[in-house]
Amino acid sequence: MPLINPKLFSFIEESKCSLLMPPKPIAPENSEYLTSNWPIKEIRPQAQKIIKDSSSKENEDEKLIMEEFHDAEEEIEVSKENKILEPQKPGAKAWGEELNIEEIQELESSPSPDKKEAKDLSTSYTAPGQGKTITEDKVRNSQIAANHCAIGDFESAIRILKKQISLKNPQLLRDAMIYVYRHSRASFCILPLIKPSEIIIHKKGIPNAAVTINYLNEIFKKASEMMTEGKFQDAANLFKKCINMIPVIKVPTEELSKEAFKLIKNCYEYLIAIKCETERKKQGTSPERGLELVCLMSICGMANIHKILALKNAIVISHKMKNFTTGTHLCQKLLDFKTLGLSEADYQKYQKNLNFFASKGTNEININIDTTKLLLFNEAENVICAGSLKPLKNAQESMRCSYCKATYDMQFKEQECQICEISTIGVEVVGLRIIEDLK
Ligand SMILES: [Zn+2]
Repeated sequence: MPLINPKLFSFIEESKCSLLMPPKPIAPENSEYLTSNWPIKEIRPQAQKIIKDSSSKENEDEKLIMEEFHDAEEEIEVSKENKILEPQKPGAKAWGEELNIEEIQELESSPSPDKKEAKDLSTSYTAPGQGKTITEDKVRNSQIAANHCAIGDFESAIRILKKQISLKNPQLLRDAMIYVYRHSRASFCILPLIKPSEIIIHKKGIPNAAVTINYLNEIFKKASEMMTEGKFQDAANLFKKCINMIPVIKVPTEELSKEAFKLIKNCYEYLIAIKCETERKKQGTSPERGLELVCLMSICGMANIHKILALKNAIVISHKMKNFTTGTHLCQKLLDFKTLGLSEADYQKYQKNLNFFASKGTNEININIDTTKLLLFNEAENVICAGSLKPLKNAQESMRCSYCKATYDMQFKEQECQICEISTIGVEVVGLRIIEDLK
């Protein structure tokens, strides 16, 4: 039985048709590559030379075409020069040139001439990349670190934060950045036993805000509770977590941005208070220094409940050390909280203590702080040096952390901030930007 219908052969003969043949490979007919396992074999440099020779004729044709193009380009350039020589309009460019950001960005993003040349010389074929998603393309010019973390471009986020807050320790932001990355995407399982697919959660290409102010407020609230319970180290860890997350958040409005910056300030005040307490409990701290530190802690910008606790503690220590004048000042400050959280029973008790301290009116040991003036303050900013934990020598010449704004004496300039531990002291920066800049 014939395999092919004989009618088909007769049809081909009558219509003078020919069979479609696959194209021959680009190589001479006597080449060994045609008889061997070509094209599965790897292309060797020798083979590349053969291919190049065979296509040299085509290149000559291309050269001729390109020469024609060059001639045409030269004509265009000459006509451009003539245009420049034309008289300018009055006032044109007299005030300088206009800044075109888009043109600058295009120039920056285009490869350098050297790179172009290197690309032309390369004979190897490079497959095109996966390309950018809509979100990645949109985030490219964003100045918000949170957007870059959302798409997984951590290097770019660090670069932005270095400019904005003089970031010194990017590794301390690692957990916060990974948190933002993970909470900016959704994963779903298409088939069992197959790796789930991931997508960035976005709205018109703008990544979703992974960390909200409410989430940070919750952390702050928990840290405050720890503070009330006297778990200073646990509280410090939570305050630090909060302060380290704010560089990688983004908010939609100015009000929320102000709330975030207020949160940085509150965390800083608590962290400096905890630092005073930790330093006081350290071995080798003298009683004089201990009393100084407890007094400094009582002026930090904490919640009233914590200020009252700190003042009560300071009064007990000053009584033990027979520093009655210091105790008098501390009692006066505590009684100011009569309507701000101090109970009636406590008010009566410390009124009696104040009378007792005032009747004594002496100090057993001398401390290096003036409690008369110092206890008038209600926050550490511009009063306490966060490095030395002493009153600032000169508040007018003090330096600030580029991120948390903790104040330092001049000697700490360009050192790592001891409160947030991520930024540098006394470096001029553009400042943290967290308001969404994508539209
Ligand atoms: Zn700082």
